[in-house]
Amino acid sequence: MLFRSRMTVTDGLTNLANRKQLDTLLNEEIPRARRHRRDLSVLMLDIDHFKSINDTYGHLAGDSVLRGLAAMLQKRLRPNDKLGRYGGEEFCAILPETGLQSAVRIAEELRALVESHRFVDEQREIRVTLSIGAASLGDAMQAEGLYKSADDMLYQAKRTGRNKVCHHGM
Ligand code: GH3
Ligand code: MG
Ligand code: MG
Repeated sequence: MLFRSRMTVTDGLTNLANRKQLDTLLNEEIPRARRHRRDLSVLMLDIDHFKSINDTYGHLAGDSVLRGLAAMLQKRLRPNDKLGRYGGEEFCAILPETGLQSAVRIAEELRALVESHRFVDEQREIRVTLSIGAASLGDAMQAEGLYKSADDMLYQAKRTGRNKVCHHGM
């Protein structure tokens, strides 16, 4: 029973929260932030040109990069932060009690960490970079709006060169 309930909230490849669980967590954090008048930020992180990583090194190597990256991000974040796999090669971090400025600083640290890391699969070195969109909870914003805000900024990071962090009001 415990095993089954764990499967429904966890992504099988990375062991991170799955998309459904991210939604649950964000829908808990938003009223909590409002109640205590605390900041809340979200990062959307997407691997750059991941398709070509798969094409070059194979799908299994791609899987191993996803697992390694998940562990790396998780390790760097704080215990209260929630990291999940939003989709294929896209991750989402929910950062309670964090304003936009701090969120951007954390995002930049994660970006730099990943850029300098050498993932290894079958003795082959694989380098990856991340594009990150950062957004903070605004007045009357709900989960969907917060995701969209971060996603818009992720799209901007992709559009303007990748391997960078974008946020509103830049
Ligand atoms: P961009 O910089 O614009 O994000 O380019 P991209 O290639 O990363 O993005 P695109 O959406 O074109 O391709 C995403 C790729 O991620 C394609 C898909 O096969 C791969 N992918 C998604 N989920 C998995 C997975 O679980 N394992 C592996 N190995 N690859 C995955
Ligand atoms: Mg990508
Ligand atoms: Mg993607």
